[in-house]
Amino acid sequence: MMAAARMLRRGQSRATGVGSWGNGEEPAPPGNQEVAAESRKSHRPVKRQRKAQRLHVAYEDSHGEKSEGAEPLAVTVWEPQDWCQQLANIRTMRNRKDAPVDQLGAEHCCDPSAPPKQVQRYQVLLALMLSSQTKDQVTAGAMQRLRAQGLTVNRILQTDDNTLGKLIYPVGFWRSKVKFIKQTSAILQQRYDGDIPASLAELVALPGVGPKMAHLAMAVAWGTVSGIAVDTHVHRIANRLRWTRRMTKSPEETRAALEEWLPRELWHEINGLLVGFGQQICLPIHPRCQACLNQALCPAAQSL
Ligand code: SF4
Repeated sequence: MMAAARMLRRGQSRATGVGSWGNGEEPAPPGNQEVAAESRKSHRPVKRQRKAQRLHVAYEDSHGEKSEGAEPLAVTVWEPQDWCQQLANIRTMRNRKDAPVDQLGAEHCCDPSAPPKQVQRYQVLLALMLSSQTKDQVTAGAMQRLRAQGLTVNRILQTDDNTLGKLIYPVGFWRSKVKFIKQTSAILQQRYDGDIPASLAELVALPGVGPKMAHLAMAVAWGTVSGIAVDTHVHRIANRLRWTRRMTKSPEETRAALEEWLPRELWHEINGLLVGFGQQICLPIHPRCQACLNQALCPAAQSL
């Protein structure tokens, strides 16, 4: 049977800007630092060039099976121009690992000695449910109070809503979270023998569990990378650095845009790296651009 072959190519040709980040015509570009400096002077957004840099080759026949000797077709895959250097700079800025997320993130809120292992996994999920719209310090305080009275599925189900609310207050949306925690705990007891499910689809089906929590739960509780966990920090920074081909409006849109080009082996580190960066330097309001190693490479850099 004749095989239809396809090759995906990353590299060689320069992709033109498209959508909100697009630049339209591409005259000979100045250097990155000159562009950033010029933009800061004029208070206009930096216009940057886009290019595809990596090469990935795949062949498949009409049945999706690999084929040898077929003539490949070239497809250019977009990726941000300076992302490697920007990522290296963020790693450098984060090498002290002293942001709140480094000490108080969900993986640090569970009891590592709590037997059996499923109790730890339940505690991870609960910490993630508490953490949405909530500072890490507040989540950690709530987890400490819950753990002090014994944090298991059975214990939570035996706790009345009023008491549970007092234990988790002042986490964001604490009234809704009381309801979700109770509903999710009942499902875990009935269907999973007190453990948490080991698939993304089953996790997001639980009340109060969103995609970011589910991806983090898969990574922290099960050691499986199922996708990039995108919260408001990752969403904001990815857009500031133009790591999305077009401006994205939601964390889920950003996740899909990042997963299109970011090498899979880097997915696991993006959340912790960018959340801490967003807590310390690339703040939501008044980012500390003067202290940022990416200032010359960042289209959103502020002039102070
Ligand atoms: S701190 Fe400023 S320069 Fe650094 S990534 Fe954020 S917006 Fe860009």
